[in-house]
Order: sequence, then C-alpha cells, then structure tokens
Amino acid sequence: MKPVPFPQRVEIELASACNLRCTYCPRHFVSDLKGFMKYSLFMRLIDELAAHPDTILVLHRRGESLLHPKFISILEYVRGKFNTIQLATNATLLSVEKAKAIINSISFISFSIDTPSVFNNTRIPARYDEVASNIHTFLDMNATQGAPVETQVSMVKTSETKEQDIERFLSTWKHKVDRVRIYDQHSENGVFGAIRHKRVDRRPCVMPSYEMLIYCDGTVGRCNHDWDGEPIGDISTAGIKEIWNGATYRNLREQHKNLRITDTVCATCDSWYPAIGHQGTGKVIE
Ligand code: SF4
Repeated sequence: MKPVPFPQRVEIELASACNLRCTYCPRHFVSDLKGFMKYSLFMRLIDELAAHPDTILVLHRRGESLLHPKFISILEYVRGKFNTIQLATNATLLSVEKAKAIINSISFISFSIDTPSVFNNTRIPARYDEVASNIHTFLDMNATQGAPVETQVSMVKTSETKEQDIERFLSTWKHKVDRVRIYDQHSENGVFGAIRHKRVDRRPCVMPSYEMLIYCDGTVGRCNHDWDGEPIGDISTAGIKEIWNGATYRNLREQHKNLRITDTVCATCDSWYPAIGHQGTGKVIE
C-alpha cells in the first residue's frame, strides 16, 4: 500500500476506563485503564481532522466511550464534519438522551454484546435483559428517523462458545440490525495480536499506512492490536499530520515493506492486516 499524506482512518480513544469486566477482554492484561480524553485535546484533534472529511473517524478503543463525562458534547462537536463516524459500545449506558445524540451524529454503531445464555456470566456485571432493551429502544428510535445509523451487533467466540449459542445469536439479531459479527477471541494469554490459527505467510501490514490510533492520554499507538505498546508518537507535542509523516511512522512502514519487523508490537503480532477491511479472522453476516 502506497503511503498517503494523511491517515484514512483515525481512532480516537475517548475512554480507556470501562464499566464492565468481560471475561475475554484483553483489558485483564493491561493495568491503569482508567482515563478519559480531555475535551480540549479532543477539540484540537477534531479541528485538524475536519479538513479531511473523508477520513473515517472512530470514537472508541480500549474503554467504554459512553462513560465519558462530555460524551454528548463530543458528539455535538463532530456532527456533520465527517462522512463516516463509527462507534462501538457495550450499550449498558445507552440512555434515550445518548441514543438521540448518536443518531444525530454517528453513521455506524456496533453493539458489543454476547449470546443470551452466557451474557450475564461473561459481561460482568451487565444484565442481558437491560442491555437488549437499550439496544431495541435505540433501533426503534433509529428506524423512526429513517435509519441514519448503520447498525451491527457483535459477540466474541471463545473456545467455550457452543455452536448453538452462535446460531441463537444470529437468529436473535440478524433481522434487526444491518450486520452481525462474530469475532474470534484475541489475546487469550496477553500476547496482543495473537490468533488461534496463526498466519504463517508474513506479509506487510497495511495499518501503518492506513490508520492512526490516538489513546485518551494523547499518545499514539499502531492499531487495535496495540493495547500497551511503546507509543509511536504523542499528540500533545505534535499534530496528526506531523506524526503521520514523521520518522517513527516512516520507519515502521519501511519495516513492514521489507518484512524486517523489529517494532516490539508488530514483531509479535500474527494478526496483521494484509488489506484494508475485514481480516478474515471472524464471521460477518449482512
Ligand atoms: S502488524 Fe499487527 S500490531 Fe502491527 S500494525 Fe499490523 S495489525 Fe497492528
């Protein structure tokens, strides 16, 4: 993939804090995930990004974005500035007020849930009936507005997931949302980017040439498999474009291009992205 002068996708982590302790979440291997992005920093990032409305803006990463104390102001600030704004949530805090704000500003939402038979034991301490009710209320509100938000529900398939649980998940949701996604569990042992069926044909990963991840403290990571790696930039000292075109990013792209990967996170990752889009490590039903 040819380098482009600005990232095509930017993930901004509004919160590293989360209100759940899901049994399969890689958070268990990372300490101190309790932060929120300062609103002043968020506005500065959006002010730079707004000159690139085709950039896909993603408003979540390691935590629960709806916990952010200024969540509604954040959505008001991004409204109408980007063609695609994506959000994932556990839907536990999805009030009618927040649902309205999402419908007014976001173009794609993914609800991270689970199959009813295991939900209360895996997504601790959330309750399936409450979360499903929140999602149904959102879907009704979205439909009333002409469905401006594309919707997805996702679950994580672990070694203990039964085939009938997946079938039940699909039959529960497939006619209610635009897309159902079954993710394979990652990082079962704290090795981020590790997948059950390892890829052996190492190829250059497109992520360093495609997207930038900005953690809530302003440091820059590589991608969604980077949970606690050494930062490759700090947005409090430089702009997005400056970091994207800086020496560290250029060096990382060269490492991938030459398949001589010394970067500590990428070197141990066997879940690299050979092309933009779905990695082929889960199942998508549309
Ligand atoms: S190789 Fe893995 S960790 Fe590195 S950018 Fe690609 S997906 Fe992320």
